[in-house]
Amino acid sequence: MTYDVIVIGGGASGLYLAAHLKTRNALIIEKKQRVGIKLLASGSGQCNLTHAGYMNHFYECYGDKRRYVKPALSAHSNNDVIRFFESNGVNCFTREDGKVFPQSLKAMDVLSALLKACRHTQILTEKPVTAVAVEEGLYRVETAQGSYRSKNLVIATGGKSYPTMGSEGDGYRLAEQLGFHVVSPKPGLTGVVTREKSLTALSGIALKGCVITHLRSGARFKAYNGDLLFTHFGLSGPVILNNSRWFERGDTLAISFVTVSEEVLEADFLALVASDGEKPLAFFLNRLVLPDALLSLVLSKASVAREVKLANITRAQRRGLMENLCRFPVEIENLIGYQQAMVTVGGVSLDEINLKTMESLKHEGLYFTGEVLDVDGDTGGYNLQWAFSSAWCAAEAINKKLEGVKT
Ligand SMILES: Cc1cc2nc3c(=O)[nH]c(=O)nc-3n(C[C@H](O)[C@H](O)[C@H](O)COP(=O)(O)OP(=O)(O)OC[C@H]3O[C@@H](n4cnc5c(N)ncnc54)[C@H](O)[C@@H]3O)c2cc1C
Repeated sequence: MTYDVIVIGGGASGLYLAAHLKTRNALIIEKKQRVGIKLLASGSGQCNLTHAGYMNHFYECYGDKRRYVKPALSAHSNNDVIRFFESNGVNCFTREDGKVFPQSLKAMDVLSALLKACRHTQILTEKPVTAVAVEEGLYRVETAQGSYRSKNLVIATGGKSYPTMGSEGDGYRLAEQLGFHVVSPKPGLTGVVTREKSLTALSGIALKGCVITHLRSGARFKAYNGDLLFTHFGLSGPVILNNSRWFERGDTLAISFVTVSEEVLEADFLALVASDGEKPLAFFLNRLVLPDALLSLVLSKASVAREVKLANITRAQRRGLMENLCRFPVEIENLIGYQQAMVTVGGVSLDEINLKTMESLKHEGLYFTGEVLDVDGDTGGYNLQWAFSSAWCAAEAINKKLEGVKT
């Protein structure tokens, strides 16, 4: 038997694609016992399925892939995704921070809606695909238990993060078998292990609106702004997770714990020395409204005690204080690995894909959707949105092809 479409991978993207296929002659092949395992875990089981707001803001949330994601996201937007789920019985709501969830806060409801919408698609589980080949204009898909043939093939196998949920990078191997370039994958949306172990004493402390300057080989690489969280291994929080796509082992993050520039802070300090030189350093530090444990760390780095009179602080101590408050240097020992990284950075090269249809430029009828592609979004629903938008584009293109409409 020859299927119109075979989808490899029953994750968010594969299921959304099947839900939009018009043909009933389609097959999903899934390696795990059940489909949608990662979707169930998404948003801590609540499924942050997209983000509210204008699409123009969305494009900024995919690192340097802004240009590449635009056609798919503008063809099938956040509102289209919300409309799809609401018309399939999942009411959605937008949280204060813009994240969109099902009203029930149950990822299971999202998965059930998807399964209902793709009820006409046959689903095979516990069948890891081991190889694919192009044969006489058709695709042959190999599993340990047998092979399947189709006119169109979709590779929606996800990336490498949380491998216990099925995504172990199989899609990259399949793509390479078919001659595609795969941009080296690495963990994304992940925390960093820092070389500076004294930071672990700050574990649990969260700081709002930190400015972080990213240095590589001593030179300024980028700067980021956002909320920071100290953890038992080093650093996390949105400003770290969303920018981890840029980080490499050995890079330095210079963290500013204050909201003013170093020059302004130093000028304030000197003014205080002139007006209140007899007061202790604590008088100045209290104005910064920083957690005590953090101040203790900064003081030990600057080799100065908070009881010292402002007028008695040496130039070297003042400089050390300013540097550690405004540019606290933290070297990255490592990124937290795939076991905990929420996405994969890298994947099948976008240069080999028609970004309106997700069809490969190498083989007609072969599509890639979702995280297997070289796209990673910020936290906040941007990765599921990509999984859904890219799937919708591929489904549309396949529907048109099967109907004989030229795209
Ligand atoms: C813990 C966690 C929470 C997350 N929360 C959110 C969130 O709230 N919002 C958000 O936007 N993003 C979230 N993400 C990211 C988001 O879940 C993924 O980007 C998204 O699921 C990718 O969809 P996908 O279909 O491309 O891949 P996946 O969902 O990973 O699905 C791929 C499927 O392919 C199957 N497969 C793999 N290899 C084979 C093979 N050889 N043969 C057959 N089948 C195969 C896998 O078993 C899997 O079912 C989260 C990720 C994690 C890990």
